[in-house]
Amino acid sequence: MRAVYSDRHLRHDVTHETILGEEIPAYEVAERAENIRKTLEADGGFDITGPTDHGLEPILAVHDEGLVRFLETCWFEVRRQGIERKALIPDTWPNPAMFDGMGADAIDDLRASAAIAGRAGWYGLDSSTPFVAGTYNAARASVDVALTTADLVVAGEHAAYGLCRPPGHHAARALYAGYCFFNNAAIAAEAIVRSTGERVGILDVDFHHGNGTQQIFWRRGDVRYVSLHGDPDRQYPYYLGRVGETGEGEGTGENLNLPLPAGTDDEAYLAVLDRALEALLEVPGSVIVVSLGFDTFTLDPLGDFSLTAEGYHEAGRRVAATGRRLVILQEGGYHRPSLGDNARAWLRGAEGRPFA
Ligand SMILES: [Zn+2]
Repeated sequence: MRAVYSDRHLRHDVTHETILGEEIPAYEVAERAENIRKTLEADGGFDITGPTDHGLEPILAVHDEGLVRFLETCWFEVRRQGIERKALIPDTWPNPAMFDGMGADAIDDLRASAAIAGRAGWYGLDSSTPFVAGTYNAARASVDVALTTADLVVAGEHAAYGLCRPPGHHAARALYAGYCFFNNAAIAAEAIVRSTGERVGILDVDFHHGNGTQQIFWRRGDVRYVSLHGDPDRQYPYYLGRVGETGEGEGTGENLNLPLPAGTDDEAYLAVLDRALEALLEVPGSVIVVSLGFDTFTLDPLGDFSLTAEGYHEAGRRVAATGRRLVILQEGGYHRPSLGDNARAWLRGAEGRPFA
């Protein structure tokens, strides 16, 4: 299988994040992607190449220009405003209740503060997504990895894998969140829609709901989003990911959320995956973009499912058995020692190769 990787992810060298106010070692670290790269290299069955530069246009096709400019200039502003910290993590966010009672015109006039801490809160969602000196460069490279992977599939590969880092599925049109800055899968799906004129399905099997992808395509009839994830009643991103969220306007019925209970094992998961694949096969088109996360793994420190490498192999096999061509993009997964083995198992399954 062709795989795409860029060492520019190393510039997003975060060391800490905060969860519930406590500073802890960061989960989304460079070692994740390096573990996967090394395992795929050792396997011998993957042809790993670098991405090509796709510029800003495909990003601006999906994201708000204000978010893009914020991410581009953030670190420059951090330094210009005399903040000497190693990472910027906002602590003030514009809760909608702050603007209760204001009219639509007044709300339209609201804007991000010039202070970079206020700007980071305006475009952010949570305190677990640190921004460091190399974040923008790494996030741009991650998009190029996704778009290069999509190019390979549009050009005829049956399946290709993009080792994206940072991940993308929590990033919405005008929002960065949950370790994600640009929504790699959404940008790839949009590029495929534009270049092929076909409808595209997105299968999100990261442990968390891909709130960003859902938001971006919420009113779109040409991209169907299907996600299996930990129920937001107990898991991040808390405010989206429920069964009743099915899309609006032209997107009515094009959004399918399949929240799952704690302890979900291979057998239960694969049965729900079959439902997800049926929903994706209902729509015409030849390509599925897969948001592939391994925080569903039984030992993952963030997720609470009980999936195994054998389960991932079977999941990859079933997704490929749809006959759709696959743009497979890396999202989360935080049990670092197992990440490479889990990715290898899923991708070998998708290629019709044995588990080991
Ligand atoms: Zn996740």
